[in-house]
Amino acid sequence: MSKTSPRPIESSKKRSPALAARPSKPTKKVSKKPAGASAAPAADKSEAPKSAQMVYYFGKLKTEGKAAWKMLLGGKGANLADMTSIGLPVPPGFTITTDTCAKYYELKKRLPLGLMNEVHKNIALLEKELGKKFGNVDNPLLVSVRSGAAASMPGMMDTILNLGLTDAAVEGLAKSTGNRRFAYDAYRRLINMFGDVVMGVSHEHFEHAFDKLKRKHKVDLDTDVSEEGLVDLCAVYKEVYRHKVGEEFPQNPFKQLELAIEAVFKSWNHDKAVSYRRIEGITGLNGTAVNIQSMVYGNMGDDSGTGVAFTRNPSNGDSAFYGEFLINAQGEDVVAGIRTPQTVDQMPRWNKTVHAQLLKIKGILEKHYRDMQDIEFTIERGTLFMLQTRTGKRTGFAAVKIACDMVKEKLITEEEALLRIPAGDLTQLLLPSFDPTKKSIAKVMTKGLPASPGAAVGKPAFTAEEAVERARSGEKVILVRKETSPEDVEGMHHAAGILTSTGGMTSHAAVVARGWGKCCVAGAGEIHIEADKGEFTVKGKTYGRDSVISIDGSTGEVIEGALATVAPEMSGDFSKVMRWADKYRRLRIRANADTPADAKRARDFGAEGIGLTRTEHMFFEGERIIAMREMILAETKEARVAALAKLLPFQRDDFIGLFRAMDGLPVTIRLLDPPLHEFLPHDDDNQKQVAAALKVPVAKVRQRVSMLHEANPMLGHRGCRLAITYPEILDMQVRAIIEAAIECLQEGRRPIVEIMHPLVGTRRELALLREMTIATIEKIKSEQKFTKKLDVKIGTMIEIPRAAVTANEIAEVADFFSFGTNDLTQMTFGYSRDDSGTFLPHYIDHDVLESDPFQTLDQGGVGQLVEMGIDRGRATKPDLKIGICGEHGGDPKSVFFCHEVGMDYVSCSPFRVPIARLAAAQAVLKAAKPK
Ligand code: ADP
Ligand code: MG
Ligand code: MG
Repeated sequence: MSKTSPRPIESSKKRSPALAARPSKPTKKVSKKPAGASAAPAADKSEAPKSAQMVYYFGKLKTEGKAAWKMLLGGKGANLADMTSIGLPVPPGFTITTDTCAKYYELKKRLPLGLMNEVHKNIALLEKELGKKFGNVDNPLLVSVRSGAAASMPGMMDTILNLGLTDAAVEGLAKSTGNRRFAYDAYRRLINMFGDVVMGVSHEHFEHAFDKLKRKHKVDLDTDVSEEGLVDLCAVYKEVYRHKVGEEFPQNPFKQLELAIEAVFKSWNHDKAVSYRRIEGITGLNGTAVNIQSMVYGNMGDDSGTGVAFTRNPSNGDSAFYGEFLINAQGEDVVAGIRTPQTVDQMPRWNKTVHAQLLKIKGILEKHYRDMQDIEFTIERGTLFMLQTRTGKRTGFAAVKIACDMVKEKLITEEEALLRIPAGDLTQLLLPSFDPTKKSIAKVMTKGLPASPGAAVGKPAFTAEEAVERARSGEKVILVRKETSPEDVEGMHHAAGILTSTGGMTSHAAVVARGWGKCCVAGAGEIHIEADKGEFTVKGKTYGRDSVISIDGSTGEVIEGALATVAPEMSGDFSKVMRWADKYRRLRIRANADTPADAKRARDFGAEGIGLTRTEHMFFEGERIIAMREMILAETKEARVAALAKLLPFQRDDFIGLFRAMDGLPVTIRLLDPPLHEFLPHDDDNQKQVAAALKVPVAKVRQRVSMLHEANPMLGHRGCRLAITYPEILDMQVRAIIEAAIECLQEGRRPIVEIMHPLVGTRRELALLREMTIATIEKIKSEQKFTKKLDVKIGTMIEIPRAAVTANEIAEVADFFSFGTNDLTQMTFGYSRDDSGTFLPHYIDHDVLESDPFQTLDQGGVGQLVEMGIDRGRATKPDLKIGICGEHGGDPKSVFFCHEVGMDYVSCSPFRVPIARLAAAQAVLKAAKPK
């Protein structure tokens, strides 16, 4: 019965998060101010008073703590006090503050002076309230010593039960309860737990002794051991204790208590607690509180028991009581899953009154906390006691349903409902996912980054071409690559999912996959790919083209075999939440979309325009890439113009499709941006193909490729530098845009065009580009004798630090700014986006950085440049339209930031549009909330 195992109900969600020591979530800084949307009841949001008091009592005699004082009393302690205050049956006790734990560490692990004094006084109060005495030989008071921090860390820290039992007190307990078997059962649990938790005696030594004794008494189950057997067991356990610790099991209850308090303080910094906080991104806490609470006994016989429950279904949100209990057991047993518990629905058959009482308490708790609760309870000889309540963790589905139901039930307001749904969790509602009921039996082979949510099943394909070919012949394939590049997009598109062994959350594979809403696990470093052999190995096991695998883009898990999936259902509740969000938000939401299909999907999700069309993606499909390569390899302007002419009709059609899909909404088109080398044919086959198309020898092609080689292409010939050195590229692209717009206008549509020049660093660059753009537009207008008004704006991305700093100058020649925060982050930190995987995980594991700046906008640095860019830009042009089109546009925390700094819109991948809509509303509501 290991204390560390998470409770069974939560286990499916919590399974093996520790494997990925990677940042999958933005940091949750626990605010000193009580979060209004959390469990704190509306009546009392005050912070705890500053005082030297280290211990707070809860019970009938007095209750000193408040629900809102979670920072001081921990979540468990604050809610125990609160439940006592509202008259629920809570065994009395007291809480040592988290500040005291901090002090303990300040004092280099010594209990602060006066603490044990306060503890003694509070024990005296408990004795008075219960009419029992600590360590007494007739009617002993027993307590539990429980950890409990401000943020919930289930099972990560220590708790000791039945403390206060000694050789003398155990006989007293036997007498006062008339149940000697039970008394010795409690004693053996204490010696075991105290030895394990406080003295570090491994649990198996006790387990081993227990097994031996069970054999001697010829029984299998713990519960079948006789009274005499348990008396024997206590003697054996004390022997184990003496042998391992080198001294007797302490017979002074206060000595036990003092050591146990210290052990709980220490458990704050145990490895598992530290890693849990890191994985969950919990920072800003100063330690754990210690709750010392009088014991109630679920192990007194078949009229007793213990259980855990959720007031609503945490997985789908149904308003049904959801829980489990065990007869004749102590809390620990349910957690450890020694015996299989019954569901609470089965409880009436066992005890109708208790079941009814529990349902009543469920109602009281939900009314009081106005949120779904996760509770612990114990029944001692038919009497129900509450031992814990906290806001229950839930899936995205449940979050949406519960929020909407609670509005219907008039428990919360629309605004509160919006604030309660973690915007990022909406992802779960938008994509197919693995059937949670099947997941527990799956064999997880390894774990990578949860790069793009979703669930994909298929057989590995090792090159893009292979993926296309096999997908076309009807197979479901997972593209398995070390990393992907723009050349792979066809294969990526055809694959059911993408798995890479290197690269981070903003690697090519991740960004592209998220854009399409395609499942992707990136950077699964344990996978060794041998593409020529058509296989990969993980931990010594080999998987080939015929091995079926499943990848979970929401967890990063790579699983053997085919796992069943469930399709997303766009529930009525979901649309309701979106409608509410639109009512409150100020920010406009656009999407990053490169194709009419993406644009349409984005619009269905509520996008109000396109904030970024990456035109380079349009150059990879089919025969286009050949024309593109001809253009790049051309040695003369004439040859380039000829190649570009082949691309023009394709581009024009692309834009016509986009303008149609986004009729009446703005479409921002970015001109060619990536380093040319990305388009170059690097391998033999492709070089031969290009040579044939160009009718030149392959050697010639090879020579051009090596001439165009750059040492650092990301900082090389790319972005607007291309258009300035090869104006004919700009000319072709602007022509395609304007001809498309005119055609759409003539169809009776309303195209709204924004031409965006990437990677501008100086005013002069943009001034030149603007001139060239206008010249081309005018040329086309006069060619076509077009005289009507065209709605065209010319602007730039702000993605080079220099552009942000000189935004006042650049704004003179820009109609709009769009912050390209991917490149801006790359260049501000000097971290290569494509190589950061080699050091960034280490940085985050070791707290060198709090979070991945490519996922969550770095407000302290990059954010300062953004603010500067906005301020300076608007100083020149007060009505300058400003947005963001980096990956951050769909990250809720970054959306809050964009709202605060006064942007007009955020643009993100189509599947993140609903997330951004909700986050934008939350930004308004959070700002409006009285502090
Ligand atoms: P965790 O945070 O890991 O759940 P807890 O401090 O809540 O640890 O305690 C572990 C188990 O012991 C729980 O099932 C709890 O209900 C039970 N427990 C704690 N204190 C008491 C008590 N005073 N009487 C009876 N059971 C208790
Ligand atoms: Mg608990
Ligand atoms: Mg860029």
